[in-house]
Amino acid sequence: LNEKFQNIFSNLKRKGKLSEEDIKAASREIKLALLEADVNFKVVKQFTKAVSERAVGEEVLKSLTPGQQFIKIVNDEMTKLLGGELQKMEFVEQGINIFMMVGLQGAGKTTTAAKIANLLRKEKKFKPLLVACDVYRPAAIDQLEILGKELDIPVYLNKDEKDPRVIAKKALEFAETEGYNLMIIDTAGRLQIDETLMNELVDLKELLEPTEILLVVDGMTGQESVNVADEFNRQLEITGVVLTKLDGDTRGGAALSVTYTTGKTIKYIGTGEKLTDIELFYPDRMANRILGMGDVLSLIDKAQNMIDEEKARALEEKLRTQEFDLNDFLDQMQQLQELGSIGDLMEMMPGVNKKMLKGMNMDAAEGQTKQTEAIIRSMTPEERLKPGIINGSRRKRIALGSGTTVSDVNRMLKGFEQTKKMMKQMGAMQGKAKKGRFKL
Ligand code: GDP
Ligand code: MG
Repeated sequence: LNEKFQNIFSNLKRKGKLSEEDIKAASREIKLALLEADVNFKVVKQFTKAVSERAVGEEVLKSLTPGQQFIKIVNDEMTKLLGGELQKMEFVEQGINIFMMVGLQGAGKTTTAAKIANLLRKEKKFKPLLVACDVYRPAAIDQLEILGKELDIPVYLNKDEKDPRVIAKKALEFAETEGYNLMIIDTAGRLQIDETLMNELVDLKELLEPTEILLVVDGMTGQESVNVADEFNRQLEITGVVLTKLDGDTRGGAALSVTYTTGKTIKYIGTGEKLTDIELFYPDRMANRILGMGDVLSLIDKAQNMIDEEKARALEEKLRTQEFDLNDFLDQMQQLQELGSIGDLMEMMPGVNKKMLKGMNMDAAEGQTKQTEAIIRSMTPEERLKPGIINGSRRKRIALGSGTTVSDVNRMLKGFEQTKKMMKQMGAMQGKAKKGRFKL
């Protein structure tokens, strides 16, 4: 998403003056980019309307740097949509802060419960108690228990009790007598919204009168998050949202959709699987993140200029037919080296997350081109074209022939597979750019 914005913006910046037509065209591009990123259409409509109204007004047309001014408006409006300013959490001084985590299965409730307990213990000196109210799967209780142990935070649980209402009530009594001032309730999730579960959550809400009901939403989901958020909010009147899994892909679609639908602010974001991977939500930072990160297309341009024309054409053909083989891989690798770190290049690719990079042998890509070359040269021409046919004993032979080990060969082949995947994405993007999709 952000690379599309980058492109829209850089086109605008180049223009000295903007006409109303330019602004309309740019707004249309923004609309498309957001829709493609799976942002809810209502959100997109409202957003682009707000942007073009402001932009077509005097602000932009009379400005000396209209392109810049337009970008500022888009940024402002997006920040506004995401809730404006940082929303400070409010805590009760006397008594117990009770947070109830709700959301679909797999959204990150259990993990986030532990993360928040840990964070607030450290930052606010709270004495936290985690409560296991996801009683349907024994594994769910174990999971919370393990996280509690890891953090040295007590977990209230009762594996024999099947009614979460009973557990919640007893946990509350326990917290009162033991002097806990922060209770975080982990609840059950379903794959879909389900009435029995909702009733249970409503009961828990009435019983506990939580200070916060936090809806945990998987940040990787787009449109789907809208209905879910809407339903949870309607039934439970949530007080805020936690958006998880914002570590990999940089899409902000869910953030925009969820804030718009519920009218509730995002309070925290989850940025990884580690228990310290949690941050307060800053709307302006999120807007920046959505609008302006790596300038991918210009990087691709740069890469393309390095590859001479003829090879580029042949490569393009291969990408289209997806026949990218080890010969091309070696070729590409040598050319990419001239660009500097392939890791940096790849981190800017959409859809490439750090985990993927970790799985790749970046060393081979950067410093060990020679080794890769040796390995590939030890293969038969047929193997270079179809690495899929290389079996275990051939891997041994190749390792021997190239003076490497079988795991070097395996790693190289894995790196090739990853690159092939990446090349496919690049191919798709180049295709789009060629069609003039990104041009104003
Ligand atoms: P629940 O079913 O809602 O309780 O979800 P869990 O807390 O069990 O989380 C589901 C999966 O998502 C687990 O594998 C977590 O490690 C993972 N997860 C949760 N939050 C994040 C996050 O912010 N980033 C990443 N990468 N993974 C997360
Ligand atoms: Mg859970």
